[in-house]
Amino acid sequence: MTKYIFVTGGVTSSLGKGIIAASLAKLLQARGFRTTIQKFDPYINVDPGTLNPYEHGECYVTEDGAETDLDLGHYERFLNTHTSQANNVTTGRIYQYVINKEREGAFLGKTVQVIPHITDEIKRRITLLGQNNQFDIVITELGGTVGDIESLPYIEAVRQLKWEKGDENCIVIHLTLIPYLSAAKELKTKPTQHSVKMMSENGLNPDILVCRTEKPLYNDLKRKIALFCNVTQDAVIEAMDADTIYSVPIEMMREKLDEICLKKLGLKMGTEPELNKWKEFLNKLHYPKSKVTVGLIGKYVELQDAYKSILEALIHAGAVNECKVEVKNIHSEYLTSENAREIMEHLDAVLVAPGFGSRGIEGKIDAIRYARENNVPFFGICLGMQMACVEFARNVLDMKHAHSIEMNPSTEEAVIALMEDQKDIAAMGGTMRLGAFDCVLESDSKVAALYHTTQISERHRHRYEFNNEYLPLFEKNGMEPVGKNPKTGLVEVMEIKNHPFYIAVQFHPEYKSTVENPHPLFVGFIKAAKENAVHKLSVSQQKESIPTTYLENN
Ligand code: GLN
Repeated sequence: MTKYIFVTGGVTSSLGKGIIAASLAKLLQARGFRTTIQKFDPYINVDPGTLNPYEHGECYVTEDGAETDLDLGHYERFLNTHTSQANNVTTGRIYQYVINKEREGAFLGKTVQVIPHITDEIKRRITLLGQNNQFDIVITELGGTVGDIESLPYIEAVRQLKWEKGDENCIVIHLTLIPYLSAAKELKTKPTQHSVKMMSENGLNPDILVCRTEKPLYNDLKRKIALFCNVTQDAVIEAMDADTIYSVPIEMMREKLDEICLKKLGLKMGTEPELNKWKEFLNKLHYPKSKVTVGLIGKYVELQDAYKSILEALIHAGAVNECKVEVKNIHSEYLTSENAREIMEHLDAVLVAPGFGSRGIEGKIDAIRYARENNVPFFGICLGMQMACVEFARNVLDMKHAHSIEMNPSTEEAVIALMEDQKDIAAMGGTMRLGAFDCVLESDSKVAALYHTTQISERHRHRYEFNNEYLPLFEKNGMEPVGKNPKTGLVEVMEIKNHPFYIAVQFHPEYKSTVENPHPLFVGFIKAAKENAVHKLSVSQQKESIPTTYLENN
């Protein structure tokens, strides 16, 4: 029988429920249990696809084309398995389903209510992944903080499930904060007590407390927390701030979070978690042999969650290359052709990020031009690829009005056009080209060499595409379409061969990079950045060895 673990949050948001849930899942998976994670979000949007990154950080995309919460990215990166639409459910989706059923007449004259109709639908969705004996353990992260009005139906649904399935099949982990008051030099347990009390008032008692803290929790304090929150003392887990999210599974193993879960669920411990590959990765991450500086050019760079998957993919690729990747966030709105050199000459490589709309577009184009003309390794993703095509058209092909019709609908030189099947779409939610599609690569391309194959499949999230009318012109002048969708001919990858590393892709490789499977394009990109750093160093050393008088005379 499938066992269920719920992760709730208390005291404050941003405590890292997603990372704790993913770390626990990793440990259970590493002990041989078939484990999956899902996230329930208490907002009314049907999915986060229409949310601005300022509201919700990155929108993550699954193989089956679901636009989801960024925590699903952590789940995939930690577990190295795919998630799907079923792994992320919002209140909006639940209500939409129940209301549609009501319109169909499915409730036969009954009054449709939060309890039981909404809570029943929550329970149905929670247990969906547990059907057909697919998984031994399903971990469900409940978004929001206990005490929020919108969390109540979820707490009630979990209470009912725990009652129906029994405490040995259903446990609740409450993630909470133990603040340190420096004036009093004390860790304070009261906010945790209040948060647990609030949950208990709604009929749900946590089985395990994971306590975020800046200082170690001594045994006396653990005992006090256990006593006042009504859990066993071994169920009070200390979660100190970690140097990287990838250390959290190891920290949780040390604190025996996996063992206490298995004990409470009545499952045999099995073998010790097999984490060799994970530890090897951590070792490389902690002891890099070199360093590169990569410029990340986008319009949301001040938000650390907006490009989450890209930043994590860079970390994975850095570890493979035994190289620390320092990311310089460059706001595309502040970049111009005048300051591009000054801003970019210190970079070893440049990544132009995905995005929507015209803000900061000219800055992205200036950055790409600089990278192309100065042999700086360049990686363009989605909008980054589209702008690479616009830059090439304007500055190499002399098409002065070249643009994407997303930014300039009336341009005569639309090198990036609206996809045919998007032309009649008016609704915004879930209507882009989403999810995994096949792509065939030219066998003599750099991308094929990096992937070690010509047949790939990558995830997408876009409405616009390269306009194939211009393809011969681009090809003749050195920008080559080396990857295409085999069915539609849609250009997926552009390369400039006469450049150390110039790869632009319509898809989003960042979504598929995991700790155990770092993405080959990111790995190749960081390798190119390393080579460029070495090259720049040797050029500057050569300059130093030339007498300054000679340099001045020239
Ligand atoms: N705005 C572009 C499009 O819709 C690019 C999207 C993206 O970068 N994800 O095609």
